[in-house]
Amino acid sequence: MLLIRCPYCEEERPELEFRHAGEAHIARPAPITDISDDDFEGYFFIRSNPKGIVYERWRHIHGCARFFNAVRDTVSDKFLMTYKAGEPKPELKGSSR
Ligand SMILES: [Zn+2]
Repeated sequence: MLLIRCPYCEEERPELEFRHAGEAHIARPAPITDISDDDFEGYFFIRSNPKGIVYERWRHIHGCARFFNAVRDTVSDKFLMTYKAGEPKPELKGSSR
């Protein structure tokens, strides 16, 4: 069973308690009404999806219900770390972004 550490509950919990919520650190353009259709498409639909280290949003849906960020290796499917939403993006060796 895959265990994921919730940074708010401060414990590892089974994967079934969590829900993936997309790529992390996507900045909403401001004001969004002034951007071009191509820029909106990039913001809303285009994601990097690299092989290796990814930064993702997760939600502890069957626990504290809070969103947090995680660093996961898509090759090994191992979580390298989790951190609270709003905290800066950690720089890791081998990170492509
Ligand atoms: Zn939690």
